[in-house]
Amino acid sequence: MHELGIAQSVLEAVSAEAARHPGSRPVKVAMRIGELAAVDPEALRFAFEALTLDTELEGLELEIETCPRRHRCLDCSTEFLVKDFDFACTRCASTRSQCISGDQLELAFLELAEHEPSST
Ligand SMILES: [Zn+2]
Repeated sequence: MHELGIAQSVLEAVSAEAARHPGSRPVKVAMRIGELAAVDPEALRFAFEALTLDTELEGLELEIETCPRRHRCLDCSTEFLVKDFDFACTRCASTRSQCISGDQLELAFLELAEHEPSST
C-alpha cells in the first residue's frame, strides 16, 4: 500500500509549509492525481486520516482531484482524453499518439487559516 507513503510525504510538505506561516494552521490540502499514477483515492484518504489522527493536523481536509489521461496526436496535434484504452485521435482517427498527461501526483494547493484567538 504505497498510499501510506504518499500521504506521509504530503503531510510533511504541509507541515513544512505551515511552519513558514506562524500563526496559521492548515485547514485543507488538495492533491492532483492522474489516473495513470495508480493511486487509490480511498486508500489515500484512509492513510491520510490515520496519520493525522491525534496530531496537530487532525481534521485537515483532503481534496483529491483526479486527472484523466490525455494524449496528443502525432499527426494533427489534437489533444484528446483517452477513454477505455481507445488511443485513436478524436479528430483524424490516427492511432499514433503520445501521452502528455495523466500521471500527476502532486500537491495542488494548501489552504491556511488564521489561528482563532484563544477563548480561555
Ligand atoms: Zn489526429
